[in-house]
Amino acid sequence: MKNIAVIGAGTMGNGIAHTFAQNGFIVQLIDVNKDALNKGLQTIATNLDRMVAKEKITSEEKQSTLHNISTFSNLNKGVENANLVVEAATENLDLKLKIFKTLDEACPDTAILASNTSSISITQIAAVTSKPERVIGMHFMNPVPIMQLVEIINGYNTSKEVTKTIMDLSKTLGKVPVEVNDYPGFVANRILMPMLNESIETLYNGVAGVEEIDTVMKLGMAHPMGPLQLADFIGLDVCLSILNVMYNGFKNPKYAPCPLLVNMVNAGKLGVKSGEGFYDYSESKKAEKVSKQFLR
Ligand code: NAD
Repeated sequence: MKNIAVIGAGTMGNGIAHTFAQNGFIVQLIDVNKDALNKGLQTIATNLDRMVAKEKITSEEKQSTLHNISTFSNLNKGVENANLVVEAATENLDLKLKIFKTLDEACPDTAILASNTSSISITQIAAVTSKPERVIGMHFMNPVPIMQLVEIINGYNTSKEVTKTIMDLSKTLGKVPVEVNDYPGFVANRILMPMLNESIETLYNGVAGVEEIDTVMKLGMAHPMGPLQLADFIGLDVCLSILNVMYNGFKNPKYAPCPLLVNMVNAGKLGVKSGEGFYDYSESKKAEKVSKQFLR
């Protein structure tokens, strides 16, 4: 397995591309939006510079990592030689189904098709392809180059051989893969999102302010980042879609997104990526401070 196509150059896609490229894989990074491709490459270069400054990698390794990545805005072209595709496009069911239908025709027959979705059913995604046994969830965590976990999600039809290949591959990236089954939110978000939603609900009910809620969880529960700041970091739109998938999937009101979260997403306050969420990131220094704190 040598050629990896990564679809989406946003928060997750650029981190996934970075991680594969740093481990010697040839990466085709694909995004419909050329600005996102440029921004993604810029982010990778900045993160590599930080690693060089911390002496985690040499400047030669930085150069070879960048050299391993090429960019494409045409999906069919970007995946034509792929051994593995990792889809990390926007969290939207219709969009992902459309992408996987295209992948089914455009990729080599032997390719494994993985999705980095946070919550959408791998079984449902696999069902639009002609080889559902070759479709799997590969759920990386943010920021990808730093976080150890990869949640590996078996769809209903995923073959044992494909699961083993992806488990082994994740280990070669220096990650710790954990195998789980395909139910809404899998394991990570089924447990995390209700906590983030409850923090937003606590704010919405006026129990305490943003910094107070985050301080309680940071200092009281030894969380490295408060839940409201973490929601900003993940993206409030991403949190809302995951909660909706669990709410609809389990038909259980305990997953209903807090009205404040819905309002903020409708108002375009998406967290770090839009410059404002529960915190204000309008000055570049503030956003930098948050990411440094998390990447410490
Ligand atoms: P993002 O909004 O930062 O980036 C999504 C990118 O996909 C954008 O650059 C967009 O232009 C691109 N895109 C949209 N349609 C496309 C298409 N048809 N072809 C190619 N590119 C397309 O989103 P993100 O936070 O990186 O999330 C990506 C995926 O990763 C989602 O499924 C999300 O649930 C999952 N995820 C996110 C996080 C997180 O912390 N943000 C963590 C784990 C998993």
